[in-house]
Amino acid sequence: MPNTPLRRRCFLKALGGTVFGKTVLGGAVLGSAVVVPPLARAASVSDTLENTSGLPLARSLQLENLHTGESVATAFWTPQGYQPDALQAINKVLRDHRADQATEMDIGLLETLVELTRRLDTQAPVQVISAYRSPQTNEMLRRKGHKVAKRSYHLKGQAVDIRIPGVELKDLHRAALSLKRGGVGFYGRSNFVHLDVGPVRRWG
Ligand SMILES: [Zn+2]
Repeated sequence: MPNTPLRRRCFLKALGGTVFGKTVLGGAVLGSAVVVPPLARAASVSDTLENTSGLPLARSLQLENLHTGESVATAFWTPQGYQPDALQAINKVLRDHRADQATEMDIGLLETLVELTRRLDTQAPVQVISAYRSPQTNEMLRRKGHKVAKRSYHLKGQAVDIRIPGVELKDLHRAALSLKRGGVGFYGRSNFVHLDVGPVRRWG
């Protein structure tokens, strides 16, 4: 059994992500129902990113955590592949600051953010209100009466609540919906948009 995940990864690598990505992994609907290794999810989105420009892109993000004031600007993917140090720096900024716990954020979510900022043609940092939430923090927020889902994608490192300076929230919302890559929630009063890599759906 210990060898199974490794073999599956090699298999996915061999496929190059294209066909598999389009037919099986492209549908975010399947993302939550099927156990898909992060690499595979990343491959499907990567293909989209490469195909739109015809060139491999450096996938960079500028993130600012509004609770901690910490920020990061880094390329988590270059033509040499995924950059573990960059991913670690991103995971740290996106950690649950209340519990001081980080998780491995879903690479598909990070790539959605790259695509979103490209589509909005902005160089401004993505301001993060909430990303990873530990089970303790989620439960605490629920008890305090915050509207957080019991099985929130935030718990899996698969959701972010964001705004972008200089971008109207309604424009951010429209761009996020146009990606058709997962859940999109509009929180006008709190001034943020929720994005996740779960099934395609919308609310708010
Ligand atoms: Zn959220």
